[in-house]
Amino acid sequence: MFAAARACRECGDLPLGPRPIIQGSATSRLVIASQAPGSIAHASGVPFMDPSGYRLRDWLGLDEGVFYDPALVAIVPMGFCYPGRLAQGGDRAPHPACAPRWRALLLGSMPEVRLILLVGGYSQANALGAGSVTERVRGFRGYLPRYFPLPHPSWRTGVWERRNPWFGAEVLPALKTAVRQVLELD
Ligand code: SF4
Repeated sequence: MFAAARACRECGDLPLGPRPIIQGSATSRLVIASQAPGSIAHASGVPFMDPSGYRLRDWLGLDEGVFYDPALVAIVPMGFCYPGRLAQGGDRAPHPACAPRWRALLLGSMPEVRLILLVGGYSQANALGAGSVTERVRGFRGYLPRYFPLPHPSWRTGVWERRNPWFGAEVLPALKTAVRQVLELD
């Protein structure tokens, strides 16, 4: 199923054209349900090899070897292709055709999944419906064991983290523990 999704060229309105950037396999146990690739990932074909990725790996307590191992970790954003930039700055929303086309198929192809990280508002809205990212992250225990809501790890989140010190004090230690348990790293 991942090979079929990587070959997808269905959207003709992507500014740089289709280039699905995903990771995963039938044995993946952890899913990173993120937003959409940025321009760096579009150019390189590698997801999260950028400041957002460095921050996310730090949050998870994972090195690149584990993070990029599709036998363990799947990266399935809400839009698989780079959606382009907004005039006022920041990236566009994930292409709306992508999740209805692929999301259930890919998740259904990974029977070993034990935890889905809902990274940012788009994936949380898809899985949980409308709601506040901050309140969901703060109430992360209520979504376990299936989901772990997180903010998007962009540079803007540094400001958010300073305003919400409970994130570093309570959420990140619990996140690291949950990830290590799911991946059986201890
Ligand atoms: S955004 Fe999704 S549906 Fe559209 S071309 Fe890329 S992979 Fe296909």
